[in-house]
Order: sequence, then structure tokens, then C-alpha cells
Amino acid sequence: MICIPITAGTKKEALHAIERSCQFADSIELRIDLIGGGGLAELISTARNSSGLIKIIVTCRKKEEDACAAAAHIKSTVENTKKKIALLKEAIELGADFVDIELAEGRSAIKGLQSFCAKHGGKTKIIISYHNVKETPALTELKEIFHQCAKAKPAIVKMVTFAKTAEDNLIALSLIPYARKHSQEIISLCMGDKGRISRAIAPFLGNYLSFATLAREGQSAPGQFTVYEMKQINELFKSERTSPSVPVLSMPPLQPQNYVLLGNPVGQSLSQLMHDAALKKMGIEGIYSAFCVHNLGGAVQGMRAMNIRGASVTIPFKVAVMEYLDDVDDDAMKIGAVNTIINNNGRLIGCNTDWLGLILTLKKAMPVKNKTFVIIGAGGTARATAYGIIKEGGFPIIANRTPEKGKTLSDKLNCPFYSLTESGKIKADCLINTTPVGMYPKDKSPVKAAALGGYKYVMDVIYNPLKTKLLKDAEKQGCHIISGVDMFVNQGAEQLLLWTGVEPPRALMKKVILERLTKIE
Ligand code: NAP
Repeated sequence: MICIPITAGTKKEALHAIERSCQFADSIELRIDLIGGGGLAELISTARNSSGLIKIIVTCRKKEEDACAAAAHIKSTVENTKKKIALLKEAIELGADFVDIELAEGRSAIKGLQSFCAKHGGKTKIIISYHNVKETPALTELKEIFHQCAKAKPAIVKMVTFAKTAEDNLIALSLIPYARKHSQEIISLCMGDKGRISRAIAPFLGNYLSFATLAREGQSAPGQFTVYEMKQINELFKSERTSPSVPVLSMPPLQPQNYVLLGNPVGQSLSQLMHDAALKKMGIEGIYSAFCVHNLGGAVQGMRAMNIRGASVTIPFKVAVMEYLDDVDDDAMKIGAVNTIINNNGRLIGCNTDWLGLILTLKKAMPVKNKTFVIIGAGGTARATAYGIIKEGGFPIIANRTPEKGKTLSDKLNCPFYSLTESGKIKADCLINTTPVGMYPKDKSPVKAAALGGYKYVMDVIYNPLKTKLLKDAEKQGCHIISGVDMFVNQGAEQLLLWTGVEPPRALMKKVILERLTKIE
């Protein structure tokens, strides 16, 4: 359900906004603290005349809980609680569908409003709200506040906090399944630019409604989408729960399984594009969202609380994430890095599909058993690569920029080590680049073109661009070249297989990635 807050400063503007909003939204929120000129009866009757289906929420926000109170153009017209309660009672008499009262108004004010409501037939439902315009408190504190609101048995608990970091979204969103467990309808989201992602995801977790504005200037809280954007988001995810046909106060059906990418940065990642396309094709209801993480512990805690089914983990958290998990499988433990988390009923298990993605790709192009492979790099991907090669009966050789790091890895693997400058001297069947050198937009190679002549195969784990400088040089030297795109698709497909138990559509996943990469090129 989409709700447009009416925040116009004059009654004339408000009436116009109501008429327009009723064409686009399922509900409106009359912010009578902001609408100058009073006339609640006229505002409500205009809404009813504009749409027989519109739900009307009447709100008189406390100054301390209003994110826009600081804005010069928006000024509260109601300063004291007595006047505010009188306005909410008037709304009840006029048959508003909901009135919103803050938890901070106190138990007796809330009880008074509830009994007034009951005396008037109980048609109007109560929303008890909490707004924190400065921050998102810790989850334990928010749960405590949720219970204080829920104790009064309102129709809806509304909890809106300010997102200072991306992880705050996870905290706010985790209240939605928590409220469902307690059979309580909820609206929980974050405001602010960093909180926008919660506004997009909350409807699919079962939030009672989504706030949106008619135009960008009309925001009643920072970060709100326009109604057009919100409808596009809903359309994108095709969630039945956001449809206006959902009966009022019905609990959402079984929760879909959702997935996240935890990394920093994540802006350039193509994982979301690939996983969303695959989930859609597989007919699995659920979404995959990318989170730019600043506090890894908080993000993993949010993943548990929201019962997120799975996570992809990327740079720079593949090693650090291990300490927050309940278990790490044998492959990931031996590699020393996790790129996949499975949430089995609250138990978080770390796995690694990078090695498998690489091996599946390599084996399609060449035999691995008894072949020798020069691995350029000594980081996480180099470790996963070497692990896969050894597992398949091949022999790795490490060549790295920093000799100490390369030597440490080669000692661990009991294999030869060369410095990067010596890579031309090595005799091997295949060379694999596992460093970021050559990634878009830089047209660079970690090794000189002349050093490639002795290799039959050259692979790059980089997939953007599709043909890196290393691969272009190798092709000129007559080598068979292997792009990182198949590895990327395979490691992602293996993640989906772990999360869902269903074979994912690898060809389609590759197609969407190739389409996007061709556009970038
Ligand atoms: P990492 O752990 O940070 O390791 C990076 C390695 O690259 C280090 O050994 C580092 O050498 C070396 N390196 C970095 N800059 C260099 C330079 N300018 N010249 C020479 N060597 C340099 O990173 P990672 O997690 O292994 O990821 C590496 C790359 O693999 C990334 O580009 C990532 O996107 C890609 N990747 C692709 C896939 C796929 O599916 N296709 C999957 C995983 C990763 P020092 O030891 O000297 O610092």
C-alpha cells in the first residue's frame, strides 16, 4: 500500500494535493500539524469524494519527532499535546481510518485516545509511532521500544529512524519479521539518503505501507521516493503484498527468501543484476540487494535478525567475515576466505564458491590434472585458485609483487615461488591473473606481453573488461584465452545452488552479464 503524506502549508494547496494523491495512492496521511488553516472536516470529505477506496491517516507529529521540523518552509501549527489530542479526536469523529500518536505522548494520552475511539464505534484504528530523527538505535533498544508500542495493542506500530550507515537499514528492516512473529502489523524503515534502501525493501518483507511523495519537493521525511518511483520499485519486484487489493490489516503470506551482497564498495558490482535475473527465472520469490557495509558485525547481525537466506561476501570482507559466523565449511576453511553465507534457520555457515567457479571454468577450457599453472597474485583469489588446482590434481606456482606474501603462500601450498618480474622465465601450461591489475577503467597488465609466449593458456579472473590487456596480449602471442566472466557466473550460480538447492540458469546469468558488459565497453 502506498501512502502519500499531505504536508502543504495552506488549506488550498492541501486540498489540491489530496485530490491528486487520491488518483495515485492507496492512502494519504494528513499532517495536520503542518497544514495551515485547519478545516479537518473539509480535508477528509475532499479525500472521500476523490476516492471511495482511499485510507486516511491523520497525524499530528511532535516537533521533536519531525524530520522536517528544521526546514524553514515547514512549520508545525500545533505546539501543545492538548490541542493535538483534540485534533486526533476530531479525526476519529470524522471517520478517519487511522490516527497516529507517538509513544512519547505517554500511556494515559494513548489510552484516552483508544477509549475515545472505542466509544465512536472503533472504526478508526490507532497507530503508535516512534521517530528518531538523529540515528538508528541498536536492535535490542529498538525491540524494547517496539514492545512498549505493541503493549498498548495498536493496529499498527510505526518505527522510523535515521540511517547514518547502510547497516542501519538492516536493523530497521529486521523489525518487520520480528513484529510478524509477535502478530503485530508494523511500518519500519529508515529515513535519510542512506535509508532509502529500507524504503525499497520494506514492502517485500511485509511492511504495512510505503510512504511516497507526489513530487520530490513534498517530502515529509528525507529519503522518500516519489509515488512514481515507488510504483516502479513495486513493479520491478512484482510483490503481491504491496497490491492495494491486500485486505486491510491482513498479515502477509509466507516470507520470501531474500539475499544480500556485503562489500565495500558495491556500486560497480554486477552480482545483483545476475542474481535477480536468475531468481526471477527460477520462480523464486525474493530479492537480492547490495549493501555497502561499514560495520561488518552489524551487517551480519542484521542478516540474522532479518532471516536473510544467503549472502555473497566480497572485497574487503572475505576473511574478516569468518569470525562472525557459526561455522565455516571445509573448503572455505582451507582457503581461508568466505564468499558465501548460508543462513540455516539462524545458523550462519560460511562457504567459498570462488574456487569452484574457477575450476568449472578452467576444466571447460583445458585439462587440469598434471598441468602446471602460474598464479599471479597471493591474495584471497590466488588462494582459492591454488586450492582448486591442487584439488583437481594440477600444480600451482606462485608469482607475486610482494615476495614475502608470495613466499608465505607458496610455503603453505608447498609449491614454487617466483617474483613477478621473473614470470617470463617460468615454464608452465597456463598463467592465471588473480590480481586486480587490468580492471576497468585501467588498460594494464600484471605481466609483460613477451612473457606470455610460452603459455598455451592464459586466464584472467577479471571480467570487466571482458578482454583485459593481459588477454589481448596473450591472444597476440597465440595463447588460448579464458575470460573471468564464466568464473563470475559459475561462482554466483554455485551460491544460488547452495541457497536454493535448485540448479540456476547459468546461460541466462551469463547473457545478462555479457549484455551489461558490452554496453559498458
Ligand atoms: P586481494 O586479496 O586483495 O589480493 C590482490 C592480489 O593482487 C595481491 O596478491 C596483490 O599483491 C596483487 N596486486 C594488487 N595490485 C597489484 C599491482 N598493481 N601489481 C601487482 N600485483 C598487485 O584481492 P582478491 O580478493 O584476491 O581479488 C583479486 C581480483 O580477483 C579482484 O579484481 C576481484 O574482482 C577478482 N575476482 C574475480 C572473481 C570472478 O568471479 N571472476 C572472483 C573473485 C575475485 P601484493 O601481495 O603485492 O599486495
